[in-house]
Amino acid sequence: MKAIVMMRGKSGAHLLDLPKPKLTRPDEVLVKVKEAGVDGTDYNMIKHNLQDIAEGRNEIVMGHEMVGVVENVGRKVMSVSPGDTVVMTVRRGCGICHPCLHNQSDMCMTGLFTERGIHKRDGYFTEFVVDQEQYVVKVPANLAKLAVFTEPLSIAEKGIAQLRTIQSRFPWTCGHPEHDFLAADWGGCKTALVLGAGPLGVLAAALLRLAGAYTFVADIVPENSPKARLVKQMGANYVDARGKKPKEIVDFCCGSSSQLDIVFEASGAAVTAVKLVNYMSRSSIYVMTGIPQKELLIQVDAAQLVRQIVSYNQVVVGSVNSNRSHFEMALKDIPVINSRFGGLLEKMITHRFKLQDHDQIFSATDETRIKTVIEIEAS
Ligand SMILES: [Zn+2]
Ligand SMILES: [Zn+2]
Repeated sequence: MKAIVMMRGKSGAHLLDLPKPKLTRPDEVLVKVKEAGVDGTDYNMIKHNLQDIAEGRNEIVMGHEMVGVVENVGRKVMSVSPGDTVVMTVRRGCGICHPCLHNQSDMCMTGLFTERGIHKRDGYFTEFVVDQEQYVVKVPANLAKLAVFTEPLSIAEKGIAQLRTIQSRFPWTCGHPEHDFLAADWGGCKTALVLGAGPLGVLAAALLRLAGAYTFVADIVPENSPKARLVKQMGANYVDARGKKPKEIVDFCCGSSSQLDIVFEASGAAVTAVKLVNYMSRSSIYVMTGIPQKELLIQVDAAQLVRQIVSYNQVVVGSVNSNRSHFEMALKDIPVINSRFGGLLEKMITHRFKLQDHDQIFSATDETRIKTVIEIEAS
């Protein structure tokens, strides 16, 4: 079967023929991959030649976002059967720490986990994959066409879940009990700024809009670009951050006097991300999900920064990866987001390729590219 791989000692992406995987345990599922999503992690792996290949191997199959159809199951598998549409999670736990032993490998405490398509374990830019049932999530049949968004949306779901849990430390942000951070309409009377209008930023903004938050999304593309149009389609405001200092971005969102309750960083633009901490409001929360690559040095007034975080009760929290529960949340929200915001998810897919197009998939991306999907036909 064909697979897009990174190879030891070579740069770029390559198409290889690999043996089709087989069921070897009674709790395993064989899945035929139908679509795989490409995201910033994949582009960075190629651009910066970030190879993380298991010992004893010469290649790693790329890709960590997928939707597929079950082809065969081991005798102990209960939750899926052949013909079911499924998605698969990314991280495989260390098998040692308590979070990993309790279905929260996204919070692994040893760092000894692996990740499909990223970290020492083959991914999904291929025709067939095998994994244990616990990592395979059944997709309702009517969501097959949009389920390729499950993994990226699960990353936004986890970040937002972290923020809601942490901010439930104080219920009374306004006079409405229905806007408590653990209530369904928790976004009411709150202002949020999302940094980055890539797929993760747009999906995080969609969740913020669903919850009723007054939402701004900042990026460095013009007002009339496809990304900015998607932002506006959700009833969020687009901030063209080109030439704007972090303070000017915040002032654009809420002026100098009112509250910026939430910052959600999804760009990986490290300098802006750090400088924005200086403009957080009192009792506000900042969720960081973007992962910068290059080393970037800046000067900060450490005393001012610490004084502000302490005296304003601020929280900066990092959020990476996601677990099965976030995949399940994403599958619930996918149809809601798509119908509420005028086919948002369909419009996000701007480019479609085949496995054989591995050179074009990673060639320079322009600002019209939002989500790239690889359509996979088993040979
Ligand atoms: Zn662990
Ligand atoms: Zn309220």
